[in-house]
Amino acid sequence: MTYRSICRLFVALALTSALSAQQDVAAPKRPVTKLKALVIDGQNNHNWRKTTPLLRATLETSGRFEVDVATSPADKQQLATFAPTFSDYDVVVSNYNGQLWPEAAREAFSAYVRKGGGFVSVHAADNAFPNWKDYNLMIGVGGWGRRNEKSGPYVRWRDGEIVRDAGPGRGGSHGRRHEFVLDVRDREHPITKGLPPRFLHCADELYDRLRGPAKNLTVLATAFSDKKTGGSGEHEPLLMAIDFGRGRCFHTALGHDPTAMKCVAFQVTLVRGCEWAATGAVTTDVPEAFPGADAVVVRDPLVARSK
Ligand code: ZN
Repeated sequence: MTYRSICRLFVALALTSALSAQQDVAAPKRPVTKLKALVIDGQNNHNWRKTTPLLRATLETSGRFEVDVATSPADKQQLATFAPTFSDYDVVVSNYNGQLWPEAAREAFSAYVRKGGGFVSVHAADNAFPNWKDYNLMIGVGGWGRRNEKSGPYVRWRDGEIVRDAGPGRGGSHGRRHEFVLDVRDREHPITKGLPPRFLHCADELYDRLRGPAKNLTVLATAFSDKKTGGSGEHEPLLMAIDFGRGRCFHTALGHDPTAMKCVAFQVTLVRGCEWAATGAVTTDVPEAFPGADAVVVRDPLVARSK
């Protein structure tokens, strides 16, 4: 290298570092990258055509997510080709309760979560796949589908602590729909940190008697399932966080229908649960309008998005 070319190289290097220093100062603050969520629907004993748009709008209006939807075909032959690319997403949100996915999709989904992908189970998604072992480890507890004591214990809040009850009995039930209070049982978890200790949820099914492997499961909030409304007489887990491999799963048993999903208690816990499942942290604030224990707060995310 000649003296001249060495000089040129130094000038070039000096210019490059000056430029990058200038860019550091002048560059506008980068917008926060949105997390990618995939909502799965297409089969459910609930009205997924009505509820998926509400899930989508709730996530989108949080400003934290961009959302795609994968609608599984109901036809058995076509379902055999159902193969979403889970690994393109930070979090997969299930609004699905239907036929077993083909083996390739099941294996891809297990691998995705095991390697660190996020998963969120909404309401009847915890009814799905009673015999798929990994799925039940991800949801922690589930209902119906002939679940019973062989599926794992009930998980209840009794006398100030979480108790796993392996006694015999069906898995999954609910009483009449009504408004009910959620009691936060873990106030330090990123999903529930900053929420009031008790808050009222809009009329919804209060799932009770869920049971499953309940491994690596943290109960975030329970609600009392009163026998007067056809419930179990127990404090039932309705918001849960579950570790599966390196992946994080959030299970909300709330969200039977649009009335339940237009509830701010549902929406805020969903968004925070999705963010935690995707990243392990929660950055979204608890809105001032979040309910306390005395009155529900209603917000239609479709109207909010159109504004
Ligand atoms: Zn329901």
